Order: sequence, then structure tokens, then C-alpha cells
Amino acid sequence: MNQQIKLQRRPSGIPTKEDLVYQEAAAPKPEPGSVLVRNRYLSLDPYMRGRMTDTKSYVPPVAVGSVMEGECVGQVISGPGFKEGEWVKGMLGWQQFGSAPPSGLTRIDIGAAPASAYLGVLGMPGATAWIGCTEIAVVKPGETFVVAAASGAVGAVAGQLAKHMGARVVGIAGGAEKCAYVKKELGFDECIDHREKDLGDKLKAACPRGIDVYYENVGGKVQGAVFAQLNDFARVAFCGMVAEYNDKEPAPGPNLMSVVKKRLHLQGFIVSDHPAAFRSWPEIGARLIAEKKLKYREDIVKGLRNAPDAFAGLLQGKNFGKLVIEID
Ligand code: NDP
Repeated sequence: MNQQIKLQRRPSGIPTKEDLVYQEAAAPKPEPGSVLVRNRYLSLDPYMRGRMTDTKSYVPPVAVGSVMEGECVGQVISGPGFKEGEWVKGMLGWQQFGSAPPSGLTRIDIGAAPASAYLGVLGMPGATAWIGCTEIAVVKPGETFVVAAASGAVGAVAGQLAKHMGARVVGIAGGAEKCAYVKKELGFDECIDHREKDLGDKLKAACPRGIDVYYENVGGKVQGAVFAQLNDFARVAFCGMVAEYNDKEPAPGPNLMSVVKKRLHLQGFIVSDHPAAFRSWPEIGARLIAEKKLKYREDIVKGLRNAPDAFAGLLQGKNFGKLVIEID
């Protein structure tokens, strides 16, 4: 028999056993051109919640009635290019036996690490942490680095890597036991329990020089508390927002999960940080105006005494074009 978990219906909120249904199917037979694998470990990851929902994302959802998608490590039963018993990993689904084309499988070395590690620390979550720290946020020595879900698959690796890169590392995790593990076992400088009160104050105390890099795994109120402590020119590696994956309605305001899904690049700036461009603009702009490539409109209000009203109007859209007071 092949034990399987199928997506029976799309969950609303936290998935239940009515959404994800266990069943026993006939044991699969080897198919020509594909490799049959006896799965030994299945990875469960937050992204799977997104696959259960039919919304536009970076990958299509799992079809209702199908075996849930998921990465497994297991041993080859038969198939082209692999020997029986070889250890492999691949997207083999929530089931005991799965098959994939040879190109969909990667050999793993269980002499170097236990098979299950290839789904976590040496697998997709570990690689996510590595990329976030070295390619997205690029942690520098002496910076303060904060990571949420700090005891989890991604956060634990991200925090340890940031520590090796010379940062002061502060984790955020749920509960005293997780926080103790993060500090004592993983060697983070501090770890704050997001379930306790005064998260903002605790974060401020743990990050006396503010936060230079935030590795975002969680969203929700943790995100709000961290953003309040970000330094000028801080970087945020938007990895995920697991606290919001079961929300039935999106939270008010911009949905920052778009930053992850669409790999958005958001950057704030202040004009005065760019003095060279600031100085060169009048000449460039004047040339564009002379060449009739740049048009402009002014809203000139006469009399200094009218400035307060004109300013109030500006904030209500009453100006049309650049608002200027003609003083005399
Ligand atoms: P974890 O092993 O960290 O497990 C999830 C953890 O999230 C929980 O243990 C819990 O930790 C925390 N959490 C859940 N709900 C809440 C909540 N309401 N408020 C605060 N914390 C909460 O998962 P992973 O390490 O696998 O994933 C972490 C994040 O990374 C996820 O957002 C995931 O989607 C994202 N990710 C993104 C990838 C990418 O390519 N962008 C790839 C892989 C993962 P605690 O009890 O400590 O709060």
C-alpha cells in the first residue's frame, strides 16, 4: 500500500484533517522513464500553506484531490540512472512511495549527515538562510542583526551565520524554552519571547544601537515592533511572513507578502543623500525644458499672508502644479 495525504479541499484558516485527508492507495509500479522512491522523510514547510490556497503566487497551487506536494528524502527502488537503495531527495509528495524523472532527484550523502538534515539545515531552509544573509541583506561585522522564528529551520541557521559574519545577533521566538535554546545552544546574543508583553521595549533594550538587518520570517506584530527600531539605511531580507499565512482576510494596509512573492525591491531615499545628482539637476532640467522634453506647471499664490491657506490647500489637493508664493 501507499500511504498518502491528499488535499481534499482548500482550507480556511488552519488546515484540518478534513482538508488534508489520509488514504491508502495501491503501491505504485515503476513507470518507464521515472524513478520510483521509497520516501523515508518528508519535509513540512510553511510555504505549503500557500500551495493549499488558490491565489496567484510564484507557483500554482496544488489541485484539489491531488497528493500534497512536498520534498522527501528516500531510497531508490528502481529507475533509470540510479542504483537500488541509493539515497535521493526530490519533490516526491506527502506519501510513502513517490516517483520523479531522474532530473528531479538529487543524490544525498548520508555518510556526511543524517538523511533528514538534507530537508532542513543542509536543504532548502538552510540554503534560504545562507542566501538571505550573504546575497540579500549581506551582513557586515559590527551590525545588529535580528531574525524572527529564530529557533526554526531558517531562522536558526540565519542567526548563526550572521554571528559568524561578525554581527550582534538577536532572535525572536515563541516561549521561554525556544529562547533559552536560541541563546545557549545557538549562541545568539539575545532572544526575545514575542508572546510576552512589551515586545518593543524588550527589542529596544536588546538592540541598543538599533537594528541594521532584519531577517523577516514572520510578519504580524513582530514585524511592527522590529520596524520601529530599524536604523537609517537598514536592510530587510523579506523571506516569509508565516504569522499571516492562515489569515482569512489580509491585514489592512499594503500586504508586504508581495515583497516575497514578487521579489520586490523597495528602497526609501532622501534627496539630500545624493548631493552630486542634486547639483547637476538644474543644468540637465533646463536643457530638457529648452528641448521641449520637460513641461512644468506652477500654481503661484500672491501675498505672503496667503501662505498658511495655500499650504493647507496643498495638503488637500487644492494646488495644481508646483505651489509657490509670490511674496510681493
Ligand atoms: P519554522 O521552522 O521557523 O516554523 C515556523 C515558525 O514560525 C513557528 O515555529 C513559530 O516559531 C513561527 N510562527 C508561526 N506563527 C507565528 C506567529 N503568529 N507569530 C510569530 N511567530 C510565528 O519555519 P521555517 O524556518 O521553515 O520558515 C520560516 C519562514 O521562512 C517562513 O515564513 C517561510 O515561509 C519562509 N521561507 C521562505 C523561503 C523563501 O524562499 N523565501 C524558503 C523557506 C522558508 P515561534 O514559536 O518561535 O514564534
